[in-house]
Amino acid sequence: MSHATSPVLVIHGGAGVIKREMNPAREKAVRAAMTKALQDGYAQLKAGKPAIDAVTAALTVLEDDPNFNAGRGSVFTHDGKNEMDAAVMEGDTLSAGSVAGVHRVKNPILLARAVMEHSSHVMLVGDGAEEFAKEQGIALVDPSYFRTEERWQQLQRALKEDEQKKPHADLETAKHFGTVGAVALDSQGHLAAGTSTGGMTDKRWGRVGDSPIIGAGTYANAQCAVSGTGWGEFYMRTVAAHEICMRVSMLGEPLQRAAAEVINQEIPSMGGNGGAIALDGNGTIAMPYNTEGMYRGWIGADGVPHVAIYDDEPDPSNHPPAPASASSSSE
Ligand code: ASP
Repeated sequence: MSHATSPVLVIHGGAGVIKREMNPAREKAVRAAMTKALQDGYAQLKAGKPAIDAVTAALTVLEDDPNFNAGRGSVFTHDGKNEMDAAVMEGDTLSAGSVAGVHRVKNPILLARAVMEHSSHVMLVGDGAEEFAKEQGIALVDPSYFRTEERWQQLQRALKEDEQKKPHADLETAKHFGTVGAVALDSQGHLAAGTSTGGMTDKRWGRVGDSPIIGAGTYANAQCAVSGTGWGEFYMRTVAAHEICMRVSMLGEPLQRAAAEVINQEIPSMGGNGGAIALDGNGTIAMPYNTEGMYRGWIGADGVPHVAIYDDEPDPSNHPPAPASASSSSE
């Protein structure tokens, strides 16, 4: 597919329990960061740059903002460290790059991109990934850069619950909230996807979630691009992002139905939760979630950035999803 297309960029900043009574200053900051991410990413597309440029431009804005669980605002592991994961994929070439378990990389999404573009591998982890970052001139920072008080307190609450052997009732969603993702369609009709996260609060033993696993939390092909956010283990077990794209590419399902089947049916039926953003080659957007809300944003032909957080805010997706038998329009 390489015809002149109207570019589109879609982003998320995580899905989970989002209460209306959220601190207004925080809500304002979240909306402002998402607006800037949309504007910076869309400027790349308007300048005729490839979709991957829009994805990384948008995601570095969100990684630099402490309100999101990625880069600067990453959550803490059980041992009190920040361990980040990220991935990117280009749909037209099926090129992909990812990193997991990095501690000092300021913008893990840029390292994932460097893995894709400047190594013969797809996935690098831990110290080796950071050695590669150094060789590539990717910015490394002292681990203290990622220490935010709010995330630290979140870990303390989780540790207390561990001690009391309480199930992580409310924390179950709060633990992983705030991952960031982007999908873009460029003027050549090419798609790309990217996801970056600090993972889940209180994670142990080098746990890696779905975000950097190509096909689970991040995937793009010629027809479809997806970035997921949610309880990663379920996205890995359903290979969620790949399944959405295969439903579109191989079964010919409309994008919104494909995304809703996986996010609103399969994942909750297994006990998982979360959301995803998806985009097809026609610029159709899907942004389903099975949580109370999802930070989500989009920008298209009119060049106006749109941001929504709560469930009652309109977005371009069919939410709640139309049943599979209904003819859902994805054009
Ligand atoms: N999916 C991420 C993980 O499990 C977390 C999230 O999206 O909130 O690591």
